[in-house]
Amino acid sequence: MASFPFILQAHQGSHQVELAYNGQQLEFDGADLNEPKQSSGCFPCGPSSASAGGRRVIKTVEILNITVEHENSLIVSVASAKNGPKNESVLERLVFQVRDKANATQWQSNVLSHVYKDIKRGRHFKVLVNPFGGQGHAKRMWETVAEPIFKAAECTFDLTYTTHRYHAKEIARDLNIRLFDAVVSVSGDGVLHEVINGLMERPDAIIAHKLPVGAIPAGSGNALSYSLLGEDHGGHVTNAVLGIIKGRAMPVDLCSVTQGQGRYFSFVLQSFGLVADVDLGTEDMRWMGEARFTVAAIGKLMSQKSYPCELSYIPVETNVDKIRAEYNYKRQQSVVWADQTYDELDQSHPTIVDRFGGVNTPLNKSDGWITESDDVITAVGAKLPWISKGMLLNPASSPNDGLVDLIVFPKGTGRISGMNIMIGTETGEHIYHDKVRYMKVKAFRLTPKNTSGYISMDGEHTPYTPYQVEAHRGLISVLSIEGRYARSMRE
Ligand code: ADP
Ligand code: MG
Repeated sequence: MASFPFILQAHQGSHQVELAYNGQQLEFDGADLNEPKQSSGCFPCGPSSASAGGRRVIKTVEILNITVEHENSLIVSVASAKNGPKNESVLERLVFQVRDKANATQWQSNVLSHVYKDIKRGRHFKVLVNPFGGQGHAKRMWETVAEPIFKAAECTFDLTYTTHRYHAKEIARDLNIRLFDAVVSVSGDGVLHEVINGLMERPDAIIAHKLPVGAIPAGSGNALSYSLLGEDHGGHVTNAVLGIIKGRAMPVDLCSVTQGQGRYFSFVLQSFGLVADVDLGTEDMRWMGEARFTVAAIGKLMSQKSYPCELSYIPVETNVDKIRAEYNYKRQQSVVWADQTYDELDQSHPTIVDRFGGVNTPLNKSDGWITESDDVITAVGAKLPWISKGMLLNPASSPNDGLVDLIVFPKGTGRISGMNIMIGTETGEHIYHDKVRYMKVKAFRLTPKNTSGYISMDGEHTPYTPYQVEAHRGLISVLSIEGRYARSMRE
């Protein structure tokens, strides 16, 4: 293999161009580059496509394909990951002419081998678009932004527009998984919740759970995408699509939830009290889009309403400074991909066995349960740091530490403290507030002590009855370029 930089002499009209690929980016002086590109400065690392004084820099992740076509033209297809309107199409075809076709073909092959190092080129996806997702924007986002990028990267797909609730779950349950490299949701967390539960319900879950999942943020709540790409980039369809084309399978824990006589899996959050009310009791505010969570939460905190419940949990760490130290220690370790690790299903069980029983079994004292009976403003278990845009509720959440992050706002914070806590949730600083309790637990059980209210599981309504939650390590995998969630805690 040639060594970096891979250089190709080409031209655009009468303008001589030297294309130089150095393993991180492609650079050249363009003839028609008078329009400067906006720089994103973040995703997925380093500066984005930019031209300085006519010099164009394209990051490796943004290169979708290179073809050498008739009459010696060389075409580089690029999707720029950048800030700007979420549904803006940023696909470009950069056309050059080359003299030596054989030489150009060799250069193309060298660059593409590096661009798609460790990942399959031209993946085949099962794509699920919820036409009502994101107040009806999902279909347009798919057609105008996502689909053209997949096509430019020579990815293929089998597309279904969901027609009813649980349709995504039915599809995931019955899917011929051998045909696909991943299943991709173009909606919000609700459709992903269904996909995950469909995969886990299969008799062959032991094989099916290895099918990676991809998330295109086109719903009203897109917690997974924000957690993968961070606050500034999680809402951008282009960034998410690049993560699906270029990402690898990252192991992700699921929470097993037992409630009534049933059991299902949750990947975002299980919430009671204020956070559930905000999530589910604000349908009339949907027109606000993502801002409704913050606006509604401030209103509810001002009322200082609290909710009686009994909360039991098995703590692993309750000191926030230690939680942060562990978080930062883990960030320094190299990431582990799904194909490099074993998970619980691999290890023997054809089905997932809950180690701490379920909501209907007595708590086993030797497991280390602690029980508290008091009103709370909210109690939330979560596996994702961001639960929506602007709400970094569980900053220490890890994709695969095998633990649930449990956060409790006890009753009686007072309005001023409540307001400070709420402001803190935008940056994750609320966990250091002395009225907030934030811990890593193996499992928890919540029993409401009043008769009616909201409980939200991944943003979906569930009965107002006791539930128990337990984390299981690496049960699914999610396509990701970084192999971890965006930084959500300070150093
Ligand atoms: P959003 O965040 O925009 O509400 P979600 O992905 O959370 O998007 O989806 C919300 C719900 O929409 C899910 O519970 C899903 O089952 C449901 N759903 C999907 N397709 C349809 C459809 N065609 N008609 C009605 N509901 C649907
Ligand atoms: Mg939703």
